[in-house]
Amino acid sequence: MPLENKPKLKIKPIKNGTVIDHITANKSLHVLKILNLPNKENKNITIAMNVSSNEIKRKDILKIENRELKSSELDQVALIAPKSTINIIRDYNIVKKEKISLKDEINSIIKCINNKCITNNENEPINSKFQIISKAPIIARCYYCDKLISKDEINKQFE
Ligand SMILES: [Zn+2]
Repeated sequence: MPLENKPKLKIKPIKNGTVIDHITANKSLHVLKILNLPNKENKNITIAMNVSSNEIKRKDILKIENRELKSSELDQVALIAPKSTINIIRDYNIVKKEKISLKDEINSIIKCINNKCITNNENEPINSKFQIISKAPIIARCYYCDKLISKDEINKQFE
């Protein structure tokens, strides 16, 4: 069956929780990794991958039931899915809708690719820290050793 004739999948609405829409196609599992989901408290997650979208052609959608994600958690998602939008749902209504934005500084979630960097030394309890020096395409610079990390190298870390 040609793609165009495929029946449209209806994704069940959620009563309460967070919907992350406009995720870069096929990146929803990486987004879950960043968010550390699913976990003990948050098991009801619906993933729609590679669905058609008017705005970005193909996209992924995540529906996380009974959890309202904080914007500080979501800003990190911008690292791999910069066009994502967030909808907070209460009693089937969208009560908050926002675009996520990449901050100028990223902590902990990515590793420095320089083996000799102090953040990769097991004896040093230092968390990684990066400055975002370019947002499109993303380039991050290690705060400690100045190593530049490209978008591809960031994506690799979530595969
Ligand atoms: Zn470094």
